[in-house]
Amino acid sequence: MKFYNTLTRKKEEFTTEDGSNKVRMYSCGPTVYSFAHIGNMRTYVFMDLLRRALKYEGYKVKGVMNVTDVGHLLSDGDDGEDKMQKAAREQKKSPYEIAEFYAGVFFEDLKKLNIGKPELTPKATDHIQIMIDFVKELVEKGFAYETSDGIYFDITKAVDYGKLSGAKLDEQQAGARVEVNGEKRHPADFAVWKKAPKEHIMQWESPWGMGYPGWHIECSAMSKKYLGEVFDIHTGGVDHIPIHHENEIAQSEALTGKIPARFWMHGEFMLVDGGKMSKSLGNTYTISQLEERGYNPMHFRYFCLNAHYRKKLNFTFEGMDGAKTAFERLCKAIVAHKNGTAVTAPETIADYEKQFEEAVADDLNVPQALGVLWTMLKLPASKDVYKTALKFDEVLGLSLDRAETFLPEEKFDIPEEVVALAEKMQGARAVKDYATADALRSEIDKLGFSVLNTKDGYTLKPKN
Ligand code: AMP
Ligand code: ZN
Repeated sequence: MKFYNTLTRKKEEFTTEDGSNKVRMYSCGPTVYSFAHIGNMRTYVFMDLLRRALKYEGYKVKGVMNVTDVGHLLSDGDDGEDKMQKAAREQKKSPYEIAEFYAGVFFEDLKKLNIGKPELTPKATDHIQIMIDFVKELVEKGFAYETSDGIYFDITKAVDYGKLSGAKLDEQQAGARVEVNGEKRHPADFAVWKKAPKEHIMQWESPWGMGYPGWHIECSAMSKKYLGEVFDIHTGGVDHIPIHHENEIAQSEALTGKIPARFWMHGEFMLVDGGKMSKSLGNTYTISQLEERGYNPMHFRYFCLNAHYRKKLNFTFEGMDGAKTAFERLCKAIVAHKNGTAVTAPETIADYEKQFEEAVADDLNVPQALGVLWTMLKLPASKDVYKTALKFDEVLGLSLDRAETFLPEEKFDIPEEVVALAEKMQGARAVKDYATADALRSEIDKLGFSVLNTKDGYTLKPKN
């Protein structure tokens, strides 16, 4: 398999660090101060496709996805309020209640989208001590220094800071906003530990007084604990490249002398109506909101699968309608094959499998893999094709094993005469006159229709 590595800026053959079939993978998880939106979910669909593709190839995956429940400040420049603290203040709840609620919704959304939960999902607040130890060591080694409001990482000490994004240190300097913290040695130095003002609810004892960890240190400390100093793959959205992941690399490399992950993979952004998704524009939809509008989460997953993960994807409701229609057609074709009686030659199946696998192995070209599936479904309806489609679905994760459940309700033309008989039959049933009801049912049957009693009444269908 080849994956595009942001660190080397090229597609590289994937191997594990120790040559075994065990992949160690870290994915930056959600900051649980609010509902995750469909853009966030696109990034987790990408993470899931990667995990599924690796498993399809025969790898075992140990995935870690952190839950950030402290330390993510409003601005990446280490100022502004802690997002958790702000949500707690506004909603008059404790930050722990806020975290528990939004993390719960987040994991429900993952389930709805068929995104497999990574093997470990550690919370930042359960790992404060390893973060303190990490920071202590950075200070001892001279990579971090104390100011009146926290401990900062000295980026001029880092090995080649900016290697992930390709930004040069002097550009970072020029790009940094007007100095907000005069005690910082370099404008792009970032906080690894913040001293807590009294009103900050989440705070812990440390060698530097009461405080809380910086967001970047969380990922470095937890990935090291669960996956070791060097692991195989690190994922996140593209917005993490220039600051968050750059800083993770700088800290970990300062401590261990090694870049923590070998493959850095990033999902491109989802846009809405061609622009940025933002709360103030009112265009940050959630999965539940899509459901309220009549979409199934699988429609959204299909929508995501139609674009390569390294391409921007523009969300519109027209696009969602298109995805819904295409997905329903796909399900219809799957059901036809499930009931098919033709036999497909093993060589034909093998050829489609090869094409599918090649697409997936080429930096997760899932749109192309979907194209292979569509072409295969054009074959005469056969159970061999059905089985192969389900195999492909181990990567796609579209729940094709329950394709029937996604089919739209069919609408039939029912003659008025038949409707009238059904109404009479309902009337007879209502007064428990089952003999008349049965007689009416057989009349309906003779006219070529079947009537099914339902919770709310009945439905009529032409007989097969
Ligand atoms: P956050 O909870 O803000 O840390 O974001 C969770 C994940 O969603 C991160 O991996 C981000 O890179 C990613 N993300 C944020 N906005 C978008 C977007 N519009 N499209 C795709 N991914 C996004
Ligand atoms: Zn992270």
